[in-house]
Amino acid sequence: MVHPRVLRALSTPLLGHLDPAFLDVMNDIQTLLRVVFQTTNRFTIAVSGTGSAGMEASILNIVEPGDAVIVGINGVFGTRWATVVERCGGKAIRVEAPWGQIIDPAAIEQALNRSGPVKAVAIVQAETSTGAWQPLESIAYLCRKHDVLFLVDAVTSLGGVPVEIDRWGIDVCYSGTQKCLSCPPGLSPFTLSDRALASIKARRIPCQSWYFDMALIADYWAEGARAYHHTAPISMLYALREALRLVDEEGLLARFARHQPNSEALLAGLAPLGLVPLPPVGHRLPMLTCVTVPPHIPEAEIRMNLLSAYGIEIGGGLGPLKGKIWRIGLMGESSTETHVLTLLNALEELWIRRGYLSTPGVTLEAATQVYSRVVF
Ligand SMILES: *Cc1c(COP(=O)(O)O)cnc(C)c1O
Repeated sequence: MVHPRVLRALSTPLLGHLDPAFLDVMNDIQTLLRVVFQTTNRFTIAVSGTGSAGMEASILNIVEPGDAVIVGINGVFGTRWATVVERCGGKAIRVEAPWGQIIDPAAIEQALNRSGPVKAVAIVQAETSTGAWQPLESIAYLCRKHDVLFLVDAVTSLGGVPVEIDRWGIDVCYSGTQKCLSCPPGLSPFTLSDRALASIKARRIPCQSWYFDMALIADYWAEGARAYHHTAPISMLYALREALRLVDEEGLLARFARHQPNSEALLAGLAPLGLVPLPPVGHRLPMLTCVTVPPHIPEAEIRMNLLSAYGIEIGGGLGPLKGKIWRIGLMGESSTETHVLTLLNALEELWIRRGYLSTPGVTLEAATQVYSRVVF
């Protein structure tokens, strides 16, 4: 869901990309992005393109041909990141965990000890294909200890759970606008630490991509410089500014706190339907609930029923989890009690109609119990 204020911002008349009034919009975005990223990084911008553009930009700028990157892989997005490393001429050292589990920091340390020189460690904080919530602090510590750069994918996490760039010591981080920031897709918030900037300045060969060359893009975003690089996607930037203002008005802590009870209530309500969470307790994302669907349930058919009869879209499994799990997003504006109760009610109706459940009311009762414990 996108807030009406963001939709209205999208339809604002256009300005030139070097118009002083538009430069003010860019300044606002940088200031607001530093708040959500919890950073003082001067290089904090929005890359033109969706989250995958940020993913490519992270590798294109940090990795030179032959550089090794340790990539944590426990789902689709870690896998994609390793592919990007290889396409950029780097060497991906894969540290794998079963899909749904988190990456063990000890396995990262082992890879750091056993591999030759390593340029960076790349970790997905919120693996959207499994719902696993990866802790970052101990891996950040290892990166400092071994003097390698720490790259984090915060596409789904930013604006839903803490992403503490400065306190944890993250060097490169990107996100997307259409997950917990509740903005249409099209931009990738992106931040670089001074260490990352120094590494980019020290490159032996220029960035293989001209479009994503952060050394060039810096001259457009840096106050005082503002040199044309490529035309900024003006309307998307209007929308992002408004979406970030909404995050700021709510307050980061309040926003994180809003996501938590909604996911707990959803899980409580799904339990009587036989839908159990995939990631282990303590590592379940509050904005993305992933549950395994019992084999006797025709999961794709039920998802179609939900969409056509109730107007509710939930996600199916990807890759090896196709047909086996559901991924239910409660991100940003969409994380509401109404959404939780509406979905549970719809599923319960479908379950009863198909004879999988005989007692009505069990899902709502379980969810309501969670909400009654929450003090607003
Ligand atoms: C959605 C997502 C991406 C890719 O973002 P796009 O906007 O689809 O390009 C990358 N990483 C994670 C963890 C995501 O959830």
